[in-house]
Formats: sequence, C-alpha cells, structure tokens
Amino acid sequence: MRILILSDIHSNVEGLEACLEHAPQHDVIVNLGDVVGYGASPNEVTDHSRKLGTIVVRGNHDKACSGVMGIDSFNPIAGLAALWTKQVLTPENLAWLATLKQGPLFMDGLEDVQFVHGSPLDEDEYVIVIRDAIAPLMRAERTLTFFGHTHIQGAFSLENEAVETLRPMYRFRDKMESYEIPLRKTARYLINPGSVGQPRDGDPRAGMLLFNTETYSVTFLRVPYNVAGAQGRITAAKLPERLASRLADGR
Ligand code: ZN
Repeated sequence: MRILILSDIHSNVEGLEACLEHAPQHDVIVNLGDVVGYGASPNEVTDHSRKLGTIVVRGNHDKACSGVMGIDSFNPIAGLAALWTKQVLTPENLAWLATLKQGPLFMDGLEDVQFVHGSPLDEDEYVIVIRDAIAPLMRAERTLTFFGHTHIQGAFSLENEAVETLRPMYRFRDKMESYEIPLRKTARYLINPGSVGQPRDGDPRAGMLLFNTETYSVTFLRVPYNVAGAQGRITAAKLPERLASRLADGR
C-alpha cells in the first residue's frame, strides 16, 4: 500500500492544491493535523480535508480554532490567527474540526505504524532535535511513528542504541523534488513529512511524504506552489503580515 502523508496544511490552499496535483500515485491519504491556523483559507482546506482523509489526527491549531481548547498556550500571532479562523469557519467545518481524534491513530493491517501530531507520548510536544526524539523512539509502542507539528521534514531513527537524524537532500528551490530513504525492519523511526502550508526548515516549497509499505521506504517530496497567492490572501484578510512573509523564507 502507498500512503500519502500530509501535515500542517495551516489554511494554505495554494500549498495543498499543489501537493495534491503533484502527489505520486497513492492508495490512501493520512493527515497528521493542523489543517487550519495561520493561513487565510480555512474553509477551503477543511473542505478538501473532509473529502481526502481516511485518518485525520487533530493538531493543536485544530483544537484552538474549533474551541476544543483555549489559546492560552499560543503566541500572540498564532492566537490572533486562531480567533480569526474560528470566526470565519462555517458551522459544518468548525464541527468537523472539533471532532478530530487525538493521536496516536492506527490503520488496519499496519501493526507497527502509528500516526500522531506532536510526539507519540504527548500530542502537543515538539520533537525538533535528536534529544527530543530519544524518549519517544524508545518508549513508542509502535516501531514506526509518523508525526508533524514542527514543520521540519526529516526523520529520527534508533537502532542498536544509536539515534540518528535523517534529512532529505535536495538540490533546488524552484522545482519539484523527491528523496527516498529505505527503512530498515530492525530500526525504530519517527518520520515527519514536513509542512504543506508553512514549512520551517528553510525550504519554502510545500512538503509531503509517500510511505510505501511494500518496498518499506519513505519518499520525501517538496513542491513549489503559488506562495504569492497564499500571501495575498493573508494580507487581504488583515492577518499579521509576518504570517505572509515567513512563507517566502520557509521559516
Ligand atoms: Zn502546525
């Protein structure tokens, strides 16, 4: 089975549509959460996500924007965007976001795989550097965890007590690229597809990932999209300008 994994779409419909248009052949889509928040197209991306995802994990922004939790833990810019999002979401989309389930979520037939937003141990925890990955790698109940939340594409592995960081290596900034990493059955992994709608790893292209369960490999992908279009909507919605400018930097 080929599973397309999307995460942190963050109300960026230009990024999402570019990913869907250029996605490699897949059988099913998994969404690791933060469908909304930050960007200016919450209803468009929620409409898409409602049709696409068989498995959709809830993210912290999905919780805040649908009223499942408050915005106390958010920085002022994220908080403003969450309040704006809550106001413009249709009642149907608001209700759908509010019912999203907390990770880890599982897929029938994939005994060793789980899907989370933050860490397998805490849905709101950030796994950014190798130090953050050690406990979840050792304690996760499944050998393969797909996670989001950090907006940084890449993976951590644990094998024979050695923890490693794996990063896709790309050559361009302005065209679509992919980078395949074969997985080892003897290792445990935490794997992040990157962010569709607000990358923070210095590469402004939208990120996604294909997991092929038969070849037991993951392919990281980066797709250029209409950044100016997404920025224009953020400006027109009078959301904080920083939310527009950061998209060009991938930060
Ligand atoms: Zn996010």
